[in-house]
Amino acid sequence: MSRRADPPLTGPTTELLQALIRGACVNDGTPGSGEEHRNASVIDDALDGLPGVGRTVFEPLPGRRSVVHTLPGSDPDAPTILLLGHTDVVPVNAAEWRHDPFGGELIDGEVWGRGAVDMLNLTSAMATSFAHLATRGRPPASTVRFLAVADEEAGGTWGANWICANAWDEVACDYVLTESGGMTLDAPDGMRVVFAAAEKGVAWRRLTVHGTPGHGSMPFGADNALVTAAEVVRRIDAYDPAPQLHSFWTGWVAGLDVPDALREALLDPGRVREAIGALDAGQAGYAHAVVHTTFSPNMVRGGIKTNVIPDTVELDIDIRTLPGVEEADVDRMVADALGDLADRVTVTPVIDGRTATRSPIETPMFDLLARRAAAVHDGAEVLPWMVVGGTDAAFFRMRGVPSYGAGMYDPSMSLAQFQRRFHGHDERIDTTSLGLSAQLYVDLADGIADATRS
Ligand SMILES: [Zn+2]
Repeated sequence: MSRRADPPLTGPTTELLQALIRGACVNDGTPGSGEEHRNASVIDDALDGLPGVGRTVFEPLPGRRSVVHTLPGSDPDAPTILLLGHTDVVPVNAAEWRHDPFGGELIDGEVWGRGAVDMLNLTSAMATSFAHLATRGRPPASTVRFLAVADEEAGGTWGANWICANAWDEVACDYVLTESGGMTLDAPDGMRVVFAAAEKGVAWRRLTVHGTPGHGSMPFGADNALVTAAEVVRRIDAYDPAPQLHSFWTGWVAGLDVPDALREALLDPGRVREAIGALDAGQAGYAHAVVHTTFSPNMVRGGIKTNVIPDTVELDIDIRTLPGVEEADVDRMVADALGDLADRVTVTPVIDGRTATRSPIETPMFDLLARRAAAVHDGAEVLPWMVVGGTDAAFFRMRGVPSYGAGMYDPSMSLAQFQRRFHGHDERIDTTSLGLSAQLYVDLADGIADATRS
């Protein structure tokens, strides 16, 4: 399927990815899940005995193990790079897969399994490139760290968030490279390569809806918290704050293959809502999320018995904020959505303090990413991209470290293809992309010192 010879690090990256998929570090959000000690051991085996390399282990809960390896560079003034790869994956519905989701099988040039695009592919490429840099007999000018981290898929509580808060010196760096980058997009005027430079904030809220208990046999005139909650859910779902047409949006729209009239409407604040509805379903969800702070009512708990009118119902709302939206804005928006029901609802933060983050793109590292993308993809331009979910990059951006989603993929791995496979059934990756990503990290480690001086 690939149009070129596989890059030199393809073989070892493929084998390591297979092993990490078989590690099956499934994170369902409970503290006892993940069991990332298994993939930490896989990484240890791959990096065992590297000359001059330091190693620190973090295990804030039994089994939730992360490991950072550090290769000192030859030039103390060169920027330090942190390769940030998570080792956990999200659960699967195995019955819907054509091949074993934890088999790591190599079939017709593709490795199959949960994590093949999120993000064990890049984690294995990071490990392989790190080992290559440490053993080739010539260290890079830059110090390179590789952090194989637990618990990304449940918000980093036992992984990146914990490490940044408790052991910052072990992971301190000038740039972070992590997931969500390198996928291609066929724009009308040529190929784009997307690299994430921003992501939305996370502001989950629990809404406790209050009523009055009573006997289920006499519902007339009752103050039933579940009935109120139904209206609360409807109002939250219908709430749609004004769109913000920021630079990540205009760049993305420029790369869309749509008629000019639709493109103009997408860039018009008065018509953008309607225009998003005219996109195909695969694009519309991202398009809506990237220009709005979004509210999704996703969990409900309430009631104690069929014959008891409930006095309390809890609703969990997944709220994702745009850059510039602060905690107080979120609470004001929730109150707006609730309207005259606000005094019957108690709002409690579940996740706060995690506002949207973005990194400058006027940096030597982003320039270098652009040059590598152009070299691999025949002059392709880059598209700085905003992730609408959450990644561990946020914890580093909050501490002022420019952080980018950075891999490199075969052109067959379009952005749309990537988004379909991300957390989807039949997740898989071609081996050429594995080698291209590993080569990218070697090139960045070798190139960033000169790029910074020039
Ligand atoms: Zn991921």
